[in-house]
Amino acid sequence: MDCLRTKESAEKIMNLHPMWQEPLEVPGGDRQSPLDIVARKSVFDSQLKPLVTDYDPETCQQIWNNGYSFIVEYDDTTDKSTLKGGPLKDQYRLCQFHFHWGETNDWGSEHTVDRRLFPSELHLVHWNSEKYSLFEEAVMEDNGLAVIGVFLKVGKRHEGLQKLVDALPAIRHKGSSVEFNRFDPACLLPSNTDDYWTYPGSLTTPPLTESVNWIVMKQPIEVSHDQLAVFRSLLFTSAEEEVQKSMVNNFRVQQPLRGRTVRSSSHRPLLLHSLSAGGAVC
Ligand SMILES: [Zn+2]
Repeated sequence: MDCLRTKESAEKIMNLHPMWQEPLEVPGGDRQSPLDIVARKSVFDSQLKPLVTDYDPETCQQIWNNGYSFIVEYDDTTDKSTLKGGPLKDQYRLCQFHFHWGETNDWGSEHTVDRRLFPSELHLVHWNSEKYSLFEEAVMEDNGLAVIGVFLKVGKRHEGLQKLVDALPAIRHKGSSVEFNRFDPACLLPSNTDDYWTYPGSLTTPPLTESVNWIVMKQPIEVSHDQLAVFRSLLFTSAEEEVQKSMVNNFRVQQPLRGRTVRSSSHRPLLLHSLSAGGAVC
């Protein structure tokens, strides 16, 4: 069931990406993302603390199709929705979350664990509001961003996700947006947020800056096939374009580890069979 991405298929997929059609000035750095996380090579670090999220659903503002994914945006002018703890020294503010997904349930996540692919991956993007005053400033700097990655696996319908899924038909085309209020992103976190991997990496979309503390959850959340099918009904293209393209395979190809250490908050492996199916009640 694990489908390895060959160079050939990666190139084919890149050709389908509106954001990857131009030759990119990829920073020649040593800490690009995403990665294949090799669980047995990750290093347990007893200093890693539990994550502390404090999200105010009232800061949720809108949902929009940027031509690559759908983005749920939060008001980040104050410290109302924050992340701290985990591997982080400072407090970070939530600015948006989005997903990456495949054309089928066989692939779609950006990170993989021991080459295991998931159909989708959620990214909750936060910036360091203790050191910087704007996202645009933080995005260029070391320890500027903290992104929580959550794998989605196919199973039962996720009630929290459904409110998002219901909004998607209104933003099918690139560039469209609708108001979206009172959404608590904590409902998209797995029930166990104490078990995670963390490593220094980059954004996986331009500008690809190496400013990200990655925190990848070991417990996936469960969503239904039908919910993922609505993700795939979105379009990379605007309403004016003659040929419409389905928004699928919007992930970056994996990047070399280059000597980095992936730290682990526990000795536990990927938590695929935990008793709790994940997804707190919204
Ligand atoms: Zn992302």
